[in-house]
Amino acid sequence: MHRPLRVGIIGGGIGGLALAASLRQQGSEVRIFERAPAFGEVGAGIQMTPNAVKVMRALGLFDELRSVSFLPQNIIGRNWRSGRVMWRTPLAEDCPRLYGAPFFHVHRADLHRILASQVRDGEATLASPCTGIRQAGRTAMASFADGSEYEADVIVGADGIHSTVRRELFGDEPPRYTGNMCWRAVVPFETQPLDFVSPDSSFWLGPNGHVVTYYVSGGRAVNIVAVLEHKEWVAESWTTPSTREELMAGYAGWHPNLQKLFSNVTETYKWGLFDRDPMPAWTRGRVTLLGDAAHPMLPFLSQGAAMAIEDGFVLARSLAEEATPEVGLARYEARRRPRTSRVQLEARERGKTYHLSSRLAQIKRDVKYFVRSVINPQTTGLGANWVYEYDATAKSLDPQPA
Ligand SMILES: Cc1cc2nc3c(=O)[nH]c(=O)nc-3n(C[C@H](O)[C@H](O)[C@H](O)COP(=O)(O)OP(=O)(O)OC[C@H]3O[C@@H](n4cnc5c(N)ncnc54)[C@H](O)[C@@H]3O)c2cc1C
Repeated sequence: MHRPLRVGIIGGGIGGLALAASLRQQGSEVRIFERAPAFGEVGAGIQMTPNAVKVMRALGLFDELRSVSFLPQNIIGRNWRSGRVMWRTPLAEDCPRLYGAPFFHVHRADLHRILASQVRDGEATLASPCTGIRQAGRTAMASFADGSEYEADVIVGADGIHSTVRRELFGDEPPRYTGNMCWRAVVPFETQPLDFVSPDSSFWLGPNGHVVTYYVSGGRAVNIVAVLEHKEWVAESWTTPSTREELMAGYAGWHPNLQKLFSNVTETYKWGLFDRDPMPAWTRGRVTLLGDAAHPMLPFLSQGAAMAIEDGFVLARSLAEEATPEVGLARYEARRRPRTSRVQLEARERGKTYHLSSRLAQIKRDVKYFVRSVINPQTTGLGANWVYEYDATAKSLDPQPA
């Protein structure tokens, strides 16, 4: 009888935890090594699109996810100053029918907690920053800051955009500052509904920036992602504390509903937005990458965590389906790289479309949104129907066209 495959996961973020749950479902032995002294997530919201919800359902986590979610009615594109509706993509009723799962808004901490609840005693080692990777024969080895080592059949770098595992496999190439920064905040409200925040995923498009607002925590709080183009990111860290005043000054002249929402912010951080070009390979021998370590992307299609969750499920599946880890890893890459590369590039492209500053270019864009809305509202605005359709849990899983 074969012994179970031993897989070491570097990084206990959303991607690493989704992989751990998927591997266990396939009968593998899992160890997670997380740099932080405790599992946790930044205070922010996350859009769980139908493609990610399908994986959560296959992991048996749908009901828990639904219990902490907010179900948005539509994605609505709005003019930054007037609030005029530029497009409306129905979600609440259409997503289950068209894509086989709902579209949810959740607090990241809730999503992380649900995934972390699947980790068993002894499977996770916290306060364990990975510092190196080496391989010999049929084993891969991770080494840690305290001098300890862990040997496994396969090691996966799920250690985020500044991945140590990536650097060990492919060299040190820093991520690219995309020319965008953003404020993130979650604003709790005691009384709802609010007349200045509609129950949608609202994309407010303005010159050189956009703002996304949506409810999380079952509707008890509003998440804000406010993006502005900004030439340089000079801060050493990729996130720094900011203030309500700075946020409001960044959006002077924007719609009064946004100003009112911003005026309720008590805590906010500024983030530099970084990404990378799609990589030609993710794997060396028995070590591979997943999530932001493999394909960091702009959040403009709301897909970074969704892609990491899909990666985890497909990687576990590919390893289980193939006779050797090497073939399983090759299958994983062939199934995932074309899709994630396309999402990375289209997320970049959306930034350009959302942030147009010339009035003429804006009019052309808005006419296009309108025409697409008439033909098929699922293809307008974000135009992400091809993202939501994908089902990592489907019986047959062929590579997606690039
Ligand atoms: C403004 C903004 C909005 C977003 N909105 C959405 C959205 O709506 N929907 C969506 O799907 N995505 C969204 N994303 C993207 C999403 O946040 C990321 O793509 C996702 O969190 C990536 O998950 P990950 O597990 O790959 O990496 P991470 O979340 O970065 O996790 C990596 C983990 O590895 C650990 N680690 C790092 N180095 C080491 C080491 N050397 N050793 C051990 N552990 C290590 C870290 O501590 C961390 O726990 C957004 C991103 C931003 C910036």
